[in-house]
Amino acid sequence: MQLELRKDYLIDRWVAISPERGKRPLVFKEDVEVVEKERCPFCPGNEDKTPPALLIAKRDRDNILWFERDDKEWLVRCFKNLYPAFSTEAEAKFYGTVNVKPSYGYHEIIVETREHEGELWNMEPEAFFLALKASLLRANFFLSDSRIKYVHLFKNRGREAGASIRHPHLQIIALDLEPPSITEKASSLGKECKLCKILEKEKGKERYIMSTENIIALCPWASRVPYEILIAPKKHEKNFFSLKEEELGELSFMLCKLFKALNAIIGPFPFNFWFYSLYKGLEDFHWHLEIFPRLTYLAGMELGAGVYVNILAPEDACKNIKDKL
Ligand SMILES: [Zn+2]
Ligand SMILES: [Zn+2]
Repeated sequence: MQLELRKDYLIDRWVAISPERGKRPLVFKEDVEVVEKERCPFCPGNEDKTPPALLIAKRDRDNILWFERDDKEWLVRCFKNLYPAFSTEAEAKFYGTVNVKPSYGYHEIIVETREHEGELWNMEPEAFFLALKASLLRANFFLSDSRIKYVHLFKNRGREAGASIRHPHLQIIALDLEPPSITEKASSLGKECKLCKILEKEKGKERYIMSTENIIALCPWASRVPYEILIAPKKHEKNFFSLKEEELGELSFMLCKLFKALNAIIGPFPFNFWFYSLYKGLEDFHWHLEIFPRLTYLAGMELGAGVYVNILAPEDACKNIKDKL
């Protein structure tokens, strides 16, 4: 019986790989539909249901142009989150000795496409490239604010992953905070970058999925959930938001390919992904991206003990994905 505890590549986090538990009757969660098309505030024609655009991409013959204003002909559209968790107008009360500060920052939405039913498994890489490019442009604008220390870019897809709107979108949050998760990972990378070594070592192994010229994708050794994927640049690069267009293109290509394969295995599914990148003042890092499908529930063990129970070994996940590539 395969029942083993695996430690994460970098941090002190453990996962119990337990394929036995996958034999229980309720295995993967079903995909649940959220907000229908007619009332979708992210659809073309409903622009007045969101705050005005701060950045859009538009096609002009063969060129893509970027504008810092609204336009009905947008391909990608960025605007302030109507319900922000962080704001440049944030204020905090004084509670005496308790640690508190304003949630200063920016919280924006990047609508990836005009297609309400667009998904990473049916989108063209060129289209998703524009969404990623928009995130870089917005991130570098946020980082020019001296109070901003870190920019977090992520995607929630499906109700089970925390999304309230189906229309494909990314979220980007700029914080006056150095996230402890980055500090922990950075200190574990060490002087000779542990992640560089791991990527080299995993090449061609049973967890290695695919690579492009500059980027590699694998099912991490201590995958927390079925089909967790780690994506990172092969070369040591600190900052995702200074990525070259060429690499951004490779990343879009890779993501579309991986999601297509995942969709072929499990159908439409809820997921999150998020980036880890350098924060201001941190000397060194190796940016990476984690794809976290939400097929199983995070329950008392995961939330309480911080120990994950994963019913699908990453070696099996990797094999299934490669079969569909
Ligand atoms: Zn829509
Ligand atoms: Zn590295």
